[in-house]
Amino acid sequence: MIYYVGCGMVRRLFGTDGVRGIVNKTLTAEMALRLGYAIGTYLGPGKRILLCTDARYGGEMISRAVIAGLTSAGVKVYEGGLAPTPACQLAVRDFGFDGGVMITASHNPPEYNGIKFIASDGIEAPREVEEEIESIYFESRFRPSSWMHLSHMTERFPLVVEHYVKSVASRVDKDRIKMKGFKVVVDPANNVGSLTTPRILRELGVKVLTVNADLHPLPYREPEPTPKSLKETAEIVKVIGANLGVGHDGDADRAVFIDEKGSIVLGDRSAIILAKYIKDRDPDLPKRVVTAVSSGIIVEEVLKPFGIEVVWTRVGSPVISRVIQKMGGAICGFEENGSFIYPKHQLVRDGAMTTALMLELLAVEGKPLSALIDELPKYYTIKTKVPMTRENAEKFVEEVKELYKGYRQITIDGVKVIGDDFWVLVRPSGTEPIARIMLEAKSEEKAKEILNEVMKIAERYKS
Ligand code: MG
Repeated sequence: MIYYVGCGMVRRLFGTDGVRGIVNKTLTAEMALRLGYAIGTYLGPGKRILLCTDARYGGEMISRAVIAGLTSAGVKVYEGGLAPTPACQLAVRDFGFDGGVMITASHNPPEYNGIKFIASDGIEAPREVEEEIESIYFESRFRPSSWMHLSHMTERFPLVVEHYVKSVASRVDKDRIKMKGFKVVVDPANNVGSLTTPRILRELGVKVLTVNADLHPLPYREPEPTPKSLKETAEIVKVIGANLGVGHDGDADRAVFIDEKGSIVLGDRSAIILAKYIKDRDPDLPKRVVTAVSSGIIVEEVLKPFGIEVVWTRVGSPVISRVIQKMGGAICGFEENGSFIYPKHQLVRDGAMTTALMLELLAVEGKPLSALIDELPKYYTIKTKVPMTRENAEKFVEEVKELYKGYRQITIDGVKVIGDDFWVLVRPSGTEPIARIMLEAKSEEKAKEILNEVMKIAERYKS
């Protein structure tokens, strides 16, 4: 998405997680060509890029335009085909590419697509690299390669999915999981998770049933895994007596779990029990977790007594990855939306790796997921979004700060207000023209009271 702030002095292409837009409206083939050219110019001739796509509409058009741009600058493109984002990222790192490009809009609605640039370490490129690419793009500082070098500039690279499946399966205790004879429902949102997660789980001796697993994106399950979009899948988990259900987003870097009773587990709750488990499983890891302000205060409440430090960051999994890298490691990194990073595998969120770890945890603990979640403190949770421009969302945040000025506030991303029996986060989305509101309280009444207060302000800024 392009944001023009003020009088057009600041121009941005990249949001919190790549460039996103509506196909042929705010993300066109022309933009994709220019962005590919800008990335190619940034890297320089002779470099090698791995390019993968998810199954969204517009993927072929955008990837061909990006490839034309990259190769114009003399960059050789290896086409990895359809693959989840974490599979592309793992291949970039393990096969020594100079970078990667993933054509995906992750969890956005189906009319969206996007372009994500991955650095050679497999992590999304840091902001300063994106800024450099943006300046080449906006100033048209493209460097065309000599015609003499433009031969054999693309090649198929068919190992991405295979390598990922083997790698994830090798990270967990296969025998332990196999012994349990688990039955798991996998819902990959009619996208590329269907190429990997069912295979990985079968390799672990799990009986897999898939829902929304064909690659035709319409009619579709909403690509974001939420209690609403996973309602039918949750029902299926309960009815067939599965031990677990998992819902991915479009590019399968997120995993939202459904317990055996058909209840959706919030991402920060599943992350808390995974963090406690990994702390003992991998005692060599630094005793810290890194999470975004969108996670609940419950993270501190549960993990601090175990001697685990909680580091808060801005929202966006690439931010969490870089913080973990800078701090020299962590037990894990996560967000409440089902993003979970297990640094021992790779420093990026990874839906199938998270699922494999959850199965190992269930096998070792010998309890159903609902019982493990029941042991956590109880909160009443509300998540909602209000359509508004970014500018209005920023004004909305300022008014919320003012309304709760006597309270503890974390302002690294929007505003998070923390009271004794509640917390509320209000922030502009990095990928869509909406404001996100998240809140939790010890009682339903308190949660509704806070929501009312915040929504009164939101109504005035609504698009
Ligand atoms: Mg995603």
